Formats: sequence, C-alpha cells, structure tokens
Amino acid sequence: MDAERLQFHEMGLDDRLLKAVADLGWAQPTLIQEKAIPLALEGKDLLARARTGSGKTAAYAVPVIQRILVSKQSVREQDVRALILVPTKELGQQVQAMMRQLTAYCSRDVRVADISGKADLSAQRPILMEKPDVVVGTPSRVLAHLNAQNLTLHSSLETLVVDEADLLFSFGFEADLKSLLCHLPKIYQSFLMSATLTEDVQALKELLLHNPVILKLQGSQLPDSAQLQQYSLKCEEEDKFLLIYTLLKLRLVQGKTLVFVGTVDRCYRLKLFLEQFAIPACVLNSELPVHSRCHIITQFNQGFYDYIIATDELSLADPTATSQTTAGKGKKKTAAKGGRAKDKEYGVSRGVDFQNVANVINFDFPATVESYIHRVGRTARADNPGTALSFISHAEITLLSEVEDALKGDNSDCVLKPYEFKMEEIEGFRYRCRDAMRSVTKQAVKEARLKEIKQELLNSEKLKTYFEDNPRDLQLLRHDKDLHPAVIKPHLKNVPEYLIPDALKGVINPLSSKRKRRRAKTKQGGVVRTGFKKNAPGNNPLKSFRSVGGKHRKGKTSQS
Ligand code: AMP
Repeated sequence: MDAERLQFHEMGLDDRLLKAVADLGWAQPTLIQEKAIPLALEGKDLLARARTGSGKTAAYAVPVIQRILVSKQSVREQDVRALILVPTKELGQQVQAMMRQLTAYCSRDVRVADISGKADLSAQRPILMEKPDVVVGTPSRVLAHLNAQNLTLHSSLETLVVDEADLLFSFGFEADLKSLLCHLPKIYQSFLMSATLTEDVQALKELLLHNPVILKLQGSQLPDSAQLQQYSLKCEEEDKFLLIYTLLKLRLVQGKTLVFVGTVDRCYRLKLFLEQFAIPACVLNSELPVHSRCHIITQFNQGFYDYIIATDELSLADPTATSQTTAGKGKKKTAAKGGRAKDKEYGVSRGVDFQNVANVINFDFPATVESYIHRVGRTARADNPGTALSFISHAEITLLSEVEDALKGDNSDCVLKPYEFKMEEIEGFRYRCRDAMRSVTKQAVKEARLKEIKQELLNSEKLKTYFEDNPRDLQLLRHDKDLHPAVIKPHLKNVPEYLIPDALKGVINPLSSKRKRRRAKTKQGGVVRTGFKKNAPGNNPLKSFRSVGGKHRKGKTSQS
C-alpha cells in the first residue's frame, strides 16, 4: 500500500460506499481515483484521460453515488439524477455491474438502470417510469427515450458522465449526443472520460465542461515493460495458422488469451481451423446478439474458456476489410455491407473489462495505433502482468512501424521486441496444418457463421425468459462448441510424439490430463518465450523456457 496516497476512508465518503469498496477488496484508490474523487466531490467538472483498466469507472461512479446519497438526505423525491453515456452495450452492462457493486449497501437509495442493452424501447419504459437515480445508456438509446417522453432530465439531472468519449465519436454518436444535450438542465456537473484526447473530445469539452480540471495521469497509455511484455513475430498467412496451432496445442501460450482477427469471416476461419485440432474457442463479434456477447464475456471472466477469437470495432467500418487495410485514425463507421445486421454499439477491444487476460494475440495486426493500444490494453490490467504477441505479415509491416513509433514516443520502454521462435522447428506440423486448412473452405466458414448466429439467436431470444427464471442453468450454456464437427479428422486431435520439437520434449506434454493442465494454468500465464533456442546437449530444456507471465499473483482471482 502506498502510504502517500489519499485513502478511500479519507475522502469523506458515506460508510455504505466504504463498505462496498472494502467488499470489492480494493485496498486503496488507483491513481485516477485518488485525484478525481476529491475534485468531483468539490463539485468540479472533470476531463480525465486515463489508461484503460486504470479504475476510471469507479473514479466517476463513487462521486456520483456519494452525491446522490447526500442529495437524498434533504430531498426524498425520486428522480433521475445522473446520466452515464457509454458507447457500447457491453460497457453499459459493465458500468451497471460496477454501480451495483458500489451500491450494494445503499441499493434502495441509489437505483441504477442500464438501458443500453435491450432492444425494445417499450419494454424499457416501465423501468424509466420508476425514475431510477442513475441511468446508463448509449446516446442514441437515451435520446430515443427522451423523444418518446419516457425520460425527462431537464429539471432533475445533477451529474452527466460521458465515458469513453473518443469512442462515442468514432461510433458516430455525435449527432445524437448533441441533440441529447438540449434535453439537459442549464446547470449540472460533468465528467468526461476518454482514453485519448482527440479533437472531437476537445470540442465536446468546450460544449460540456465549465472550467474543468484536466487530469492527464499517465503519459503512456500502456503499462511499462515490467508489467506488459510486447512481442512481434514476422510470419505470412499460412505461417500464422501454423504458429497459432503450435502455440495453443503445445501450450506455449498459457492462461486466458484473446486472439484478435481482422474480420468476422476470419473469426470463423480460425475457429474452424482450431476445431480440427480439438482446441475449443469462443467467437466474439458484432454479429452475435448482445445477450450472447455479454454472456461470453461473463463466462470468460468466470474462467469457462481459455480462448476468445474476437474482431474489434474497426472491422465494422468495412466488413470486407482485412487487417491489411489502412483505415485512418478516427475513421467513422459506415453502414455495414453484406446485408447481415451488425451491431453498431458493439465494442470488444474498447472499454470492456475482460478479467485476468494473460495474453493478447494479434493474429491480424490492427489497422491503427489506437486499436493496437485498446486491444493490448485488455491484458496487464490494474497491477497484473500480461503479454501481447503480434503476428506480422509483410503487408502489415508499415502498421507495425506506426505502432512502434507511437509507443516509442510515449515511453521508450514500450517497444515490441522480437519473439524468438524458430519456425523451422515446427515445420513438421505444416502438413497437418495444410490438411486442416483444406477443410476450412469458404463454404464451411459461411455455414459456420450462419449456424453460430442462428444458435446464438436461439440462445439469446428464446431462452432469455427461461434463463431469467433459472439463472443457474445459464452456466450450462457454452459458446465454444464445435461449429462444424463433420469436417473434423479425428487424427488431428492428437499430437504425435515424433512431431514435438526436441527443445520441447519433456517440457510440455500436450496430451497431459486436463486436470494437470488446469493446475498448471493457474500457476502461470503468458507466452513461453525464447522457445526453440538450441539447447546444449544435456541441458535441462526448462532453463531455456521462461514463462513471461510467471509473475501472476498467487491466489488472485479477479483482476481489474
Ligand atoms: P476500469 O478502468 O474502470 O475498467 O477498471 C478496471 C478494473 O479495475 C475493474 O475490474 C475494477 O474492478 C478494478 N478496480 C477499480 N478500482 C480499483 C481499486 N481501487 N483497486 C483495485 N482494483 C480496482
């Protein structure tokens, strides 16, 4: 604990809030909380730039709750007092969850409603009619309710929070946001939270904030190399598949892993490919219904899955785009092509709190520096270590240089180091990979995509009411099942001993029992590094394998 740091109990917070904070196991405020909470409680408007995972939700949630608790001591009338605008449904759900945790001991006094997630306006009407103290929603959804007169804010609103403000703009919420402001009273306190201070955010600052305090807490948007190890590995298309198969099957990648790809199609291509080797993975993309997406993230956080294959929001700008596209920074989203509904309020790499992610793998390199930072920011959150590994094809080298330049500019520590890996050592696997790739035809990908959406729609809609009544059964619903079992060749499931590179023999046993593996996983996460370096005869190969993530704190189950 940092003795210099202002502690929660020194901030003049209500006991019920302090109790909730203690239950969350937060020993002390994060830097942003230490700075923002006292200023907010003084009534200041704030513009805060803070690295993702820095605890910025609570930095505004705590003062919002405290203010409501204070107001309620004098005015008992029930009204909407705080509005929290978020760019995505996932973030809305997360903010609501955080608010619920913080209001665990004052849930009667501070009622929170998240209206970002549900599709039907009329279904949400009764919730808003009860005038929850805090409303969380996307600008378009909130505006729709204001226009429908399901919600009024002009007399009661005390606090406005705009979270992930920069993303609100890149998601095209600008017009909605502006119209929405006309429904607000003349005086209210505002907090603007943003990972980057873009021109759009500066403009919003002028519009919203009065004499704000600006908190630019971290120079770097990513943790330093002591906490986050970043690697890159040059490899072309076929090698990417060969590599991911080897890394996952030989368990060179340990712990929960997010694999980012450039397009929705590639999500399924990779999933079907891994299916061939009996490596289960979930797919997360904008086509899936919101309930499924949120459920996948919740289950991933609870430890149901090791791997998620995800697209990030840039792939929504152009669904046919691959990672090779050079979408410019701040590129606005256009309507989805191809007929299939994509959810414009989808966001995986941004804001969403994936917990205990040991590794982020950029199977396809992101199209912008921002996207790199947000993807990689899913690991090494709060004080936890993490590893990011990017596969770089020839066409992606320019993008890599852009990222390296940007990170160097921020902090000279933060550069991608080459991941030392001898591709020739895994040549023996190439034949199997080609074999598997042959089964992953365009048609198979198309079918898998359709099948998954159908399956998930069924999960999401038909079973929604059932699961509301039987929440325990929700645990039984898995999202990482095989999509195309017919094309699986059983022999690919196993790794014959003769194919395991010499350097790995005796170190890694891909055929070891599940239980053993699980135990190993809890001990360490990360990408095994310096693999395939030649071992001097007689040397213990373990000595040449160092797990980057070996520093994971013991006994820590949830991260931030
Ligand atoms: P955020 O940046 O708001 O997405 O928060 C990232 C994670 O940090 C969440 O999982 C929070 O539960 C966690 N967190 C927030 N404040 C603290 C704190 N003071 N101490 C430890 N973890 C925290």
